[in-house]
Amino acid sequence: MMNTIEEHKLAFMNFTSGLLGGGGVQIDIKPPSRVLLVDDEPRMLSSLGELLKTGGYQLATAVSGFEAIDHLGKGKFDLVILDMSLPDISGREVMDFIISSDVDTDVIVVSGNNDIDSAIGALKRGAFDYLRKPYAREELLKAVGNVLKQRDLKADNQRFAWQLESSERVYRYFVENSPDIIYTLNNEGMFTFVNNRVEQLLGLSREELIGKHYSSLVHDEDNELARYVFIERRVDERASRNVELRLRSHKGYCESRTFENSLLTISFSSMGMYALNQNENNPEFLGTYGVARDITERKRAEELIAYHAYHDILTDLPNRVLFKDRLGLSIIQSQRNETKLAVMFIDLDRFKLVNDSMGHVRGDELLQQVAVRLKECLRRSDTLARLGGDEFILSIPDLRDRQDVAEIAEKFLDCLQQPFFLGSTEVRISASIGIAMYPDDGSSIEELVRHADLAMYHVKAQGKNGHSFYDSSMVDASHQKLVVEQDLHRALERGELEMYYQPQVDVSTGRIVAAEALMRWNHPERGLLTPSEFLPFAEENGLMIPISDWMLESICNDLIEWNTTLNEPVRVALNLSPQYLERGKFVEKLTSALKRHEISPQQIEIEVTENTFIRNPDHAIEQFNRLCQLGVSIAIDDFGTGYSSLAYLQRFSIHTLKIDQSFVKEIHWESAHSPIILAIISIAKGLGLNVVAEGVETEIQSRYLERAGCNIMQGYLYHRPIPKTKLIQKLAELESEQLEKSFEQAGAK
Ligand code: C2E
Ligand code: CA
Ligand code: CA
Repeated sequence: MMNTIEEHKLAFMNFTSGLLGGGGVQIDIKPPSRVLLVDDEPRMLSSLGELLKTGGYQLATAVSGFEAIDHLGKGKFDLVILDMSLPDISGREVMDFIISSDVDTDVIVVSGNNDIDSAIGALKRGAFDYLRKPYAREELLKAVGNVLKQRDLKADNQRFAWQLESSERVYRYFVENSPDIIYTLNNEGMFTFVNNRVEQLLGLSREELIGKHYSSLVHDEDNELARYVFIERRVDERASRNVELRLRSHKGYCESRTFENSLLTISFSSMGMYALNQNENNPEFLGTYGVARDITERKRAEELIAYHAYHDILTDLPNRVLFKDRLGLSIIQSQRNETKLAVMFIDLDRFKLVNDSMGHVRGDELLQQVAVRLKECLRRSDTLARLGGDEFILSIPDLRDRQDVAEIAEKFLDCLQQPFFLGSTEVRISASIGIAMYPDDGSSIEELVRHADLAMYHVKAQGKNGHSFYDSSMVDASHQKLVVEQDLHRALERGELEMYYQPQVDVSTGRIVAAEALMRWNHPERGLLTPSEFLPFAEENGLMIPISDWMLESICNDLIEWNTTLNEPVRVALNLSPQYLERGKFVEKLTSALKRHEISPQQIEIEVTENTFIRNPDHAIEQFNRLCQLGVSIAIDDFGTGYSSLAYLQRFSIHTLKIDQSFVKEIHWESAHSPIILAIISIAKGLGLNVVAEGVETEIQSRYLERAGCNIMQGYLYHRPIPKTKLIQKLAELESEQLEKSFEQAGAK
């Protein structure tokens, strides 16, 4: 597509030159002029012929009027030298024929004195010249030369006019069919010409536009710029090219007689027009010639791209980039007005569970609904942005004190706690909100965002669903987190991890039936760390798989040791991280480890939580079926707290349900009643499963559980998690006690 005037001109020239002959260069080979001599005197004719031959003309002769007419009817003559007095009809009548038959020729009349009148008549009829007999040779040659020269000129003019006309036609064709608006303005900025395209584009007819000032089309804000484009006086490369202006479109003409102006973005190229053939130093400025292209679509696309660079597509909220920009401005303003400003970091609790269990589409829907709800709680000056995932951030300017912010945070928490509906499913979530204040908690964008983030983590660590202001002590905690991450890499290499074991006791016999393997980290500086202090980081950093590999190997080694020491092999329960199951080739590794160490699969129980099924239930179930075939048993850990449905329980063989500690903890008094525990126990009985109670700390709890039908218990009341050597010691002691007992019994018999 053409865009500049230069391109238009070029295309036009190429097209017309093609139309008018090769490359615009025409070589004229002009045929000799043909002259008809008419005279009844043969002598006169022959002398005239002699005279004109020297001029290289092609001659024909006639001795009468009729003969002349006959010649003129058959051939084409440039000139007729016509004697007025002829024997048959007069020269005047020959002229009449020439006129009436539209013969294209010029005539010089020759006459004697006696027919001067008819000569005058001939001149009136358009004869070119008049010679009176007798005439001088030079006089004749001059007259003939004049006629033919005039004729040539006329022919040239005609040809030129035709060329002009056809080139004009071509030009018009181009102008009218151009995808662009092409226009000229006079030197006062009024439209003098505009092509048809203007109607489609602006909804104005050309008649409406001619004589109007250009400014009536231009969007007010662009008027200044428009002056340069529309009153463009320059013609060379300095002339305006591709200048973008917004024009009003008059397409939406309404009943109410008000224009509904939608704006179009138009790219203009224009140049000055000057009068030709004038004083080169000071030519007269006639106006402007311009080409305008509608680039509204392109502009919209560009705007959309720009919009997406600064907005989150899912929620339409500003993104991190725009947020930082706005926050920067708010900080400057707060500084100036000496007011406070809050940065609020909002992270949804348990969003991942919704996303994993209900799918990403529903997860996205939830985020959109959350965005809408949060927006409803905002003031005009607040900026809410989505940072990605389930993280939102908010800047709240013009605050008096912390109390204001605390109230706003509580309002957010409140509105998020109302149920959400995803399809027909009701979902409840909560959020953790961290707050950093300007200027107290930081003076830069980065500092404020980082500190709000830290405060948010603090809320998460404290049990989520709440708000917290940043406090400098939080930096230490986060620093510790960083240190843990770095140290964990080395912990594996340095052998700082160790498996502890917590016995599971059958209270009806007092025997240890199994032991749960629990990981510990002997941290060189911080002492013995429990899994909650480091496993979450391992999960984030991709260390879960190497750590689990280590766990598997060390459990196997421990088992070999206690199998050689003890008579009766005790089962070990190991905790399986979902990551290990999903990506760690756990089943293959376990199979080969058991084979390599010659350990019976019956000695292994795998503890998994219900959440293991959420992400990829089919894969998980397939893996569990393979484990069952191998002969290991499977326990559902923390049963009753997860998200999964009981339906999973029937899709593969489970051996054990572990009642979560939180339910056991609720039992404080002898008269306590826990319908959940009763339900879990009855499910286990119904499905023929073992049931283990976890976190048993008191006799009351133990008695309640035993009465409810659960005999196997794990908890501080019986044993804390202990190192392998201690466990072996305990088991050996128990064995010998048992042995003694049976001896005693045998002795008593
Ligand atoms: P879990 O599987 O529910 O393990 C039981 C937790 O309860 C253990 O915490 C145990 O020390 C604790 N516990 C036992 N009896 C009592 C009691 O009477 N009162 C109280 N308050 N707590 C009791 P621990 O060892 O800190 O482990 C925490 C969690 O870390 C475990 O929860 C398990 O999910 C995970 N974990 C532990 N070891 C491993 C491991 O080797 N691999 C994997 N993947 N996860 C592990
Ligand atoms: Ca467990
Ligand atoms: Ca548990």
